[in-house]
Amino acid sequence: MNKIFVRLARDYRVIRAFVTRARFIYLLLNLYYFMIKRSTRIFGPVFAQIEPTDACNLSCRLCIVNRDLANSKYGFMDPEIFRKFIDENSKSIAFLVLYNRGEPFLHKDIIQMIDYAASQNIFVKVSTNALFINKDIIKRITDSKLDELLITLDFPERLDYADYKGKDTFEDVVENIRLLMEARKNMTTPLISLQLLLTRVNENKVTRFKELAGELNVDQLVYKKLRINRKEESGYLPEQEKFVRKSYLNNGNKLSNLCVRPWISATVLWDGTVVPCCFDAKGEYELGNIKEFKMDNIYNGNILSYFRHGLLGSFNTIPLCARCNLSNYFSNFNHKAG
Ligand code: SF4
Repeated sequence: MNKIFVRLARDYRVIRAFVTRARFIYLLLNLYYFMIKRSTRIFGPVFAQIEPTDACNLSCRLCIVNRDLANSKYGFMDPEIFRKFIDENSKSIAFLVLYNRGEPFLHKDIIQMIDYAASQNIFVKVSTNALFINKDIIKRITDSKLDELLITLDFPERLDYADYKGKDTFEDVVENIRLLMEARKNMTTPLISLQLLLTRVNENKVTRFKELAGELNVDQLVYKKLRINRKEESGYLPEQEKFVRKSYLNNGNKLSNLCVRPWISATVLWDGTVVPCCFDAKGEYELGNIKEFKMDNIYNGNILSYFRHGLLGSFNTIPLCARCNLSNYFSNFNHKAG
């Protein structure tokens, strides 16, 4: 299928999700509350990020799953809890990102979760490292109602991939992408994006990445700016400033003090814990658990209201936000492929 049609079909589905049950009104009202600095009594989230699992089949160098959380017990979201969350919040949620930490396709019920959310006219996006994808899963993906699939290939060359990801599986993943694109060739769903991680070893290989994306015939390219958690990891940052998140640059430019995320979105970990956003990868800021409380109680509860209040004052009062800043929030950028 022509990529222009695939992208237009995706845009149509995004608009449909926001128009369904007039969800865009929730978005507009919550943005208005943000502008007038209201931190509580707001409407439900319009965007949700839900983590099917924090288990992963790769060992990426800078990923906290294999480092800071290596000794924690990983787990899988109970599909019943997932359905309950969707049922309770489908009035406001238009866009669901069904990944956070971990590899979503390790969850045995991932396709049912995708289809359940999509059946409520919610736009569903999933990310995968594509290592786990085989012919059976490809068929289930193309038969499903998935709207967008982001493939985190991240490196255009085998040795760089193996060095960063801890497994020499570049060729397998490229072959899986080829099979997936072949299976989807006469369809408009899902839109398939290929991600490049901008690191010191990759920053001069953008052209090679574009060539590879062209060979694979994917619909869209995503360039992801690297996030580091420790100073000693700064050697991975690209030398070109345009590829580095603003908060890591010591160029004296004032950082923006504006983050609307806790007014419009919700992030839920596999065990039901709600955290302020995906940057809280260790689950340090527990706002409540959807197994015990309705989202409305968490969204308008004391902890998140206090968090929003702090954010309206200064990023630096919240250690998590001081490390992130809005420069991280809007740091990835998409490109049309072809
Ligand atoms: S500033 Fe960053 S860490 Fe804080 S809420 Fe916004 S996105 Fe999350």
